[in-house]
Amino acid sequence: MDLLEYQARDLFEQFGVPVLPGRIATTPEEAVDAYAALGTDLAVIKAQVRTGGRGKAGGVKLARGADAVRATAGEILGLDIKGHIVETVMLSPGADIADEFYFSILLDRAAGGFIAMCSIEGGMDIETLAVERPEALIKVDLDPIDGITGAVAADIVTKAGFPADAHAAVGEVLTQLWRVFKESDATLVEVNPLVRTGDGRIIALDGKVTLDTNADYRHEEWDSYANTTGDTELERQARELDLNYVKLDGSVGVIGNGAGLVMSTLDVVAAAGAELPGSPRPANFLDIGGGASAAVMANGLRIIMSDPQVRSVFVNVFGGITACSDVANGIVNALEILGDEARLPIVVRLDGNSVEVGKAILAEAAHPLITVKNTMDEAARTAARLAAEGN
Ligand code: GDP
Ligand code: MN
Repeated sequence: MDLLEYQARDLFEQFGVPVLPGRIATTPEEAVDAYAALGTDLAVIKAQVRTGGRGKAGGVKLARGADAVRATAGEILGLDIKGHIVETVMLSPGADIADEFYFSILLDRAAGGFIAMCSIEGGMDIETLAVERPEALIKVDLDPIDGITGAVAADIVTKAGFPADAHAAVGEVLTQLWRVFKESDATLVEVNPLVRTGDGRIIALDGKVTLDTNADYRHEEWDSYANTTGDTELERQARELDLNYVKLDGSVGVIGNGAGLVMSTLDVVAAAGAELPGSPRPANFLDIGGGASAAVMANGLRIIMSDPQVRSVFVNVFGGITACSDVANGIVNALEILGDEARLPIVVRLDGNSVEVGKAILAEAAHPLITVKNTMDEAARTAARLAAEGN
């Protein structure tokens, strides 16, 4: 679960990490109230969305005076930042930034442990820095029990090349951020930028926190995040239908049975799409699990086809306990249920239990939207091509 910046700010504050005061608003008038409550002259107004690069997208702006705050908040609220509509802004006193640094602690699945990453060249897009100047971003393996002790913090600030007069203050913040990470059962705590102000204070100016929801049983305080989980409208609808659905950014809808099969389907679709104009990518993850009732298939198709980005659908099924014939009937009946709502080409690949009967059922139905392919690769290529052509 990803927290919004203001939630990360609140969490940091509870652990003693130095942050600026922050107040949220959902309308320009609320923003003016928040501005008055902060009692600041210069305010920074920041879009609260779960995506980086808000600054570049016009989601972080300075304003001075109530009129400017009202106007600026009005500009940012409703903004579309990489598909995320801004519903909330956070106001803080404008900071006098002398230096911007980068710091994060994360669960590195490849390394099989926690690592810290740090750079004295913060503020900018860290993925770009990691590619263009990897030597400017240091990585340190952390002991999972001890984490960032005073000694580890001292090692990190030295290796990263912080100015000597900032070592003590930055080091202290790093140990506090480790406590946030460990005690909050986080898998990511990122501060970009960590700043030094004109008067020498170290402040976490932007925070990104991902919590490990496997630990939610021991964090009652996470209940307060329930209404801001960041689920999209389609994900919310899918949850109500008990569908295992995750929205992605692409144009090829994907339905499969079994999480592993669906995940490999996403990879195969991405690989097939990479060779085509516009590089169509998977639009979603949807595992319909065992069983393949027409109702579940219809719900799945309906959710996928109501995503305006989707241009084609790939149904990839391996018949096990549920026979392909049942799935084929499920698809045919689902299309009957959907009628005109079904409006996109559907590529079907069936294999496993009763595959021949399943294919015969689809051939018999001869539905104009359905194309059957024999292998997963062929089907992925066809679905990706149809998506590319549909644009
Ligand atoms: P992001 O683009 O989504 O990572 O949003 P950030 O909160 O990191 O803000 C982007 C950039 O805006 C920062 O790197 C700063 O350079 C700038 N910025 C953010 N807050 C302030 C502020 O209070 N004062 C000034 N002068 N600049 C700020
Ligand atoms: Mn940032």
